[in-house]
Amino acid sequence: MVGSLDFFSRRLSAEEVFSVLERYSRSDAEPRDGRLFAYVYETGLEELRRVSHRAYSMFVDKNMLDFTVFPSIIEMEKDVVGITASLLRAEEASGVFTSGGTESNFLAVYSALNLYKSRRGLGETPELVKPVTVHPSIDKAAEYMGVKVVNADVDPETLKADPGSIQERITGKTALVVVSAPDWPFGSVDPVREVAEITSERGVWLHVDGCLGGYILPFLRMLGEEIPEYDFSVDGVYSISADLHKYGYAPKGSSLILFRSGRLKEYCIYANVRWPGYYMVNPGVLSSRSAGGLAAAWATLHFLGVEGYLELARKVLAAKRRIVDGFESLGYRKLGRAEASILSFTHENVNVFRVVDIMRRMGWHLQAQFGIQGVAPPNIHLTLMPVHMATAEDMVRDLRVATGEAGKLPPLETRKFMDALASGDVDSILKSLGIEKGRFPEEMAVINELMRTLPAETVEYMLKYVVAHLLY
Ligand SMILES: *Cc1c(COP(=O)(O)O)cnc(C)c1O
Repeated sequence: MVGSLDFFSRRLSAEEVFSVLERYSRSDAEPRDGRLFAYVYETGLEELRRVSHRAYSMFVDKNMLDFTVFPSIIEMEKDVVGITASLLRAEEASGVFTSGGTESNFLAVYSALNLYKSRRGLGETPELVKPVTVHPSIDKAAEYMGVKVVNADVDPETLKADPGSIQERITGKTALVVVSAPDWPFGSVDPVREVAEITSERGVWLHVDGCLGGYILPFLRMLGEEIPEYDFSVDGVYSISADLHKYGYAPKGSSLILFRSGRLKEYCIYANVRWPGYYMVNPGVLSSRSAGGLAAAWATLHFLGVEGYLELARKVLAAKRRIVDGFESLGYRKLGRAEASILSFTHENVNVFRVVDIMRRMGWHLQAQFGIQGVAPPNIHLTLMPVHMATAEDMVRDLRVATGEAGKLPPLETRKFMDALASGDVDSILKSLGIEKGRFPEEMAVINELMRTLPAETVEYMLKYVVAHLLY
């Protein structure tokens, strides 16, 4: 049996290893086929893939823990940080290569907290102010570090952070304010300049979460798209995160956090010599980690160059135009401003959760989103990628079928789950939803509809329960 000592006690040949892995792999979605509209950032460029994977394996065994033993790390990181600093219009190249957006955002919270403590010392619980659209990696960082999160409102029309609402929530205890460029759910670029004016006046750290936009907004701007100001050219921006493994098109496991100055970068570095081992000095959360991701990111940036990124941004825009036209011709309404490469749509007469399920049966992954209670209705999210230029037409054709089908179905019935819910027994609640050990439902519409209305704590507990007890 898989996972048992029996299975482990006999060695597998290389051939057997790969035949098992091949089998596992077949149940996954295929990132390259242009049918996923979230999670991957696919260029469709096979040569780029070969180059970045080769760079990855060249450095995979080297450890970023000690740059004196592996000085190549300094060369590569300096270059990647420098390129990104110029894309984000910083005057100084100062940043840290990280394993992903979550780590970058953790470092933003950690750095802001260190600055705050250096001024005020430990005392009352520090606070973080952000619009509700900010990515949960920020809330997660706040939870890990004991920071209280204060949510600000968004404008109901643009779904962008409301600067006035942020202003009202800033107090003497505010350690940082976070906004997005753009946010993940709706793809709107928050009003960074207006917010920066407010935070500057109070001397509060402003972090721009550019995980999603960091490597596409600069190129969209070069192509003449109207992109609101979001980068270091805005006074008062202290730090920006940017994910190389998103629109940087590098393999997963690479992101950056940039600081306006080396002085600010000091706040993110952890050093410790109070033990009998090596000098410990970590710019990031992780300590030992492969240099493969950094090498692959370096290779990707240089193999594409500015021209390559512009070409890919053009493809994204072409896909965006077709997809917006397609959705709007079927009666969908676009949410937010969608200045970048993210779209979200709602429909007055059709249940979007059902559309997502039907599309999934047809082999497309679109992302169902709950929306914001009282502000934005349930909707469908799409992360657009260059590869979608080739698949947009087919997707829209299937969307027409799926929307027609969903429109004919009766409204979703959640009442029969309410009994199970009343029982309060998590196992039977999940079972009534078709979730059992090792078995997850294909149809998510009813589950989504139900989850949307339950208290967040209840849904979060169920999610934890599934992961702790039912995955395997
Ligand atoms: C993806 C994303 C993150 C988190 O990134 P991970 O790489 O998944 O850890 C944070 N913020 C935004 C806006 C994102 O899109």
